[in-house]
Amino acid sequence: MRFLFLLLALALTPAHAQFNLNLDRILDTVKNVGKATKEIDEKEEIAIGRDMAARLLGAASLVADARLQRYVNHVGRWLASQTERADLPWQFGVLDAPQLNAFAVPGGTIFVTRGLVAKMRNEAELAGVLSHEIAHVLKKHHLKAIQKGAQVSLAGDALSTALSDSRSEARAKLISFGTEMYSRGLDKSDELEADRLGGVIAARCGYDAYGLPAVLQTLQAMNAEDSAVALMFKTHPAPAERLESLADKMQPTLDAYSGQPQLPERFTAEAKAAK
Ligand SMILES: [Zn+2]
Repeated sequence: MRFLFLLLALALTPAHAQFNLNLDRILDTVKNVGKATKEIDEKEEIAIGRDMAARLLGAASLVADARLQRYVNHVGRWLASQTERADLPWQFGVLDAPQLNAFAVPGGTIFVTRGLVAKMRNEAELAGVLSHEIAHVLKKHHLKAIQKGAQVSLAGDALSTALSDSRSEARAKLISFGTEMYSRGLDKSDELEADRLGGVIAARCGYDAYGLPAVLQTLQAMNAEDSAVALMFKTHPAPAERLESLADKMQPTLDAYSGQPQLPERFTAEAKAAK
């Protein structure tokens, strides 16, 4: 995949790159650099996210259980509604995969695997995981990583084509790059920020703030060699490091909201299709 991407990047280098000074062209380049560094707007973010979600869903389908999907959407939308990006078209889905993972797509689509839901014990844990992913969308972590990668690999005008023309070859490359990111992972600082912000969102929405730490403890207890957690461990800091960072920066907040509900009964009833 990486090799293919390299080929694509090479193919994008204009074969007609010349050294003659053509003023129009220089001006164009300046304009394109402007576009490449400019913030991708919300409409573009949502459109890119839709394409990425479709691509990801081509690789794994949703668990065919309406009750489970409705429940996860209910919890996720409640969490998202209490954030500064409440009006994004938030959607949550449980992927029919035995591995343990969760990921956020720009624009507000969030997936969690059946394998991870099966390891949870209550709604506060689900809320903790969804809040971590919501935090990635709020902070545009994936979008910024895609934009940074596109600046390096797509010429400036190719990025603006990718954004404006959803049927262009440049768009297909952008989406490939974006979906590949889920096997490479984000920067560690983005993950730790999402843990902290996720804890705040879950607490703000009335959940025991220790939901996410509890899931991290479950992960920590698993064998890192287990193929079910291999991708999660490869793309995230180790659970011990995440727990340490949370304790370091968030202990007072976590403690203050540790008595809030965990809702184990509701979780068990609504999420039983994942077990
Ligand atoms: Zn994350």
